[in-house]
Amino acid sequence: MRDSMGGIPVYLDHAATTPVDARVAALMSECLTAQGTYGNPSSEHVYGRAARARVEHARAQAAALIGCRPLDLVWTSGATESNNLAILGIARGASGTVRGTSGTRARRGHLVTARTEHKSVLDACRALEREGFEISYLLPDRDGLIDAHALRAALREDTLLVSIMHANNETGVLQDIAAIAAVCHERDVCLHVDAAQSVGKVPADVAALGADLLGFTAHKLYGPKGIGALYVSSAWRATLRPLLYGGGQERGLRGGTLPVHQIVGFGMACELAGGMLTAEGQRLSELGERLWGGLADLDGTLLNGHRTHRVPGILNVSFAGVEGESLLAGLTELALSSGSACNSDTDEPSYVLRALGRDTQLAQSSLRFSLGRSTQAQHIDLAVTAVRREVCRLRAAAP
Ligand SMILES: *Cc1c(COP(=O)(O)O)cnc(C)c1O
Repeated sequence: MRDSMGGIPVYLDHAATTPVDARVAALMSECLTAQGTYGNPSSEHVYGRAARARVEHARAQAAALIGCRPLDLVWTSGATESNNLAILGIARGASGTVRGTSGTRARRGHLVTARTEHKSVLDACRALEREGFEISYLLPDRDGLIDAHALRAALREDTLLVSIMHANNETGVLQDIAAIAAVCHERDVCLHVDAAQSVGKVPADVAALGADLLGFTAHKLYGPKGIGALYVSSAWRATLRPLLYGGGQERGLRGGTLPVHQIVGFGMACELAGGMLTAEGQRLSELGERLWGGLADLDGTLLNGHRTHRVPGILNVSFAGVEGESLLAGLTELALSSGSACNSDTDEPSYVLRALGRDTQLAQSSLRFSLGRSTQAQHIDLAVTAVRREVCRLRAAAP
């Protein structure tokens, strides 16, 4: 099944399907066996305390990657839950009155987000609309960027929260979050950032970005699936209402026994990603340039998303007049590619590409290349040769 329709995914990296790093897997296993740290971190016995120490070590590792205090990080089951907790939690928690940085205000029932956000943000916003909240959906420019002036114009007296992602999962476009934060903070509006695609790939420091809430997830940075985190600034902590009650874990913000094995894996994945952030970012940028350089001169080839404001590792390209499905079918020698079509809603053109002004046809003729730790220059060259050949063959065969 595809995670989104932003062009057919072509993985030039095994890790786009994210097997965990071997060191991460080893650490996780240690927390599952009788010889290891299998205690419940909420328990007071010696096993519990050992587990708790590992959980808190991992919290420090994850916090270091985004530059926050460990106690400002709440464990979740992934970015979907982080996004839901942030958006539903602030909106519902602020019903009645809200405590912002400049005191208590009357109920604020308006939120602002963008049409290009991940479904876990958009669907949470839809749920709030059914509860009586009003949401404004900003349209990005043709490069996929949200303009800070357009955001300022959308803010109202009763705006409570703005939710804008750092990097887009379909196009890789990286927003200027610091500029967006400046606008929000002029008006005491809470800023939530979905950083699932940027943390571990580019610097994502909460203070530099100015985010009040920021979510990320382990499986996008070579950690395990099913574990994520939400940074909650101390200014908004008292407003945030939990989604899950019970047990008092995570300072009452997220009940439930902590999955120690998932958490230690996430922590280690964060430390490893932080250690190679600069070098790997540089390497992937160069590989991405090599890929785009090899395709750009083909007639009717369009890069989706801003040319430079982007995370390395995602390249979304439309090939005018060529069906994405047919194109992929011909790319047989790309051993690392995968683009199963098991999902019936794949016929829907990408709402993200449509929001960038691409017509239905162009949106359906796009490929989304994912590059990662295992991608080497020869994979790029193979992809360039194969894509060029297939685009030309399909165009020649077209009536
Ligand atoms: C993958 C992703 C999510 C969802 O993350 P899960 O951990 O799978 O719930 C949310 N937002 C963005 C931008 C993503 O890329």
